Amino acid sequence: MVILDKINKYYSSGGEKIHVIDNVSAILPDTGLVFILGPSGSGKSTLLNLLGGLDNPDSGDIWIENRKLSSFTKAEKTAYLNSYLGFVFQEYNILKDLSLRENIILALEIQKHSRKEINKRFKEIINAVELNGLEKRKVSQLSGGQKQRIAIARALIKQPKMIIADEPTGNLDSETSKNIFNLFKELSKERLIVIVSHDVESAEIYADQIIHMGMGGEAHEEENN
Ligand code: ADP
Ligand code: MG
Repeated sequence: MVILDKINKYYSSGGEKIHVIDNVSAILPDTGLVFILGPSGSGKSTLLNLLGGLDNPDSGDIWIENRKLSSFTKAEKTAYLNSYLGFVFQEYNILKDLSLRENIILALEIQKHSRKEINKRFKEIINAVELNGLEKRKVSQLSGGQKQRIAIARALIKQPKMIIADEPTGNLDSETSKNIFNLFKELSKERLIVIVSHDVESAEIYADQIIHMGMGGEAHEEENN
């Protein structure tokens, strides 16, 4: 279980201190799809980055399976980033000179997994994200939706317990977005997926839980049935 306990985050801009995250608490389930919703500038990405350990709160604690993220040793933090968590960003972060396959298995190669294990996981993953048959394609020959699937595959192949995604459908048309949200929904049956979005309609359709961020940094949580 992941718990956000009274999280506060401030930024200074032009001598002014802004309260970006104002005492936000939430309990996130082990599996399911959680949306962080709110207008532009309401602190959604900031909250996601705190959850991803990319930044630290000014006060409050993030609990990952009964341990404070702030108490992790350097090695534990690395394991958290490399194995526990998978990141999916809007810009895909795909390397254009590599093939679809090379992009997806990169993390496993860096982690020095065996060839056999890499091949096994790769097969499973491209089935799950429905990219079969495109293994040899160059990234430049793929659509936006296919590139986003690569980004999701790249997160998934690490078999993370939690995937966080910042506006993962921000560059996609509505039909492709629907497909990506359906994919996240399916994948969230076996892991926690936290998506930042400003798409209220999609949140109502796909989310199990919604964290609404307001412009004053405050938030409220809602079950979505
Ligand atoms: P959202 O993702 O909801 O659009 P952000 O979390 O990116 O919002 O930003 C929330 C607020 O914090 C904005 O006013 C933004 O300008 C400010 N902000 C974000 N990151 C920084 C930073 N590194 N330094 C100063 N201000 C920041
Ligand atoms: Mg953002």
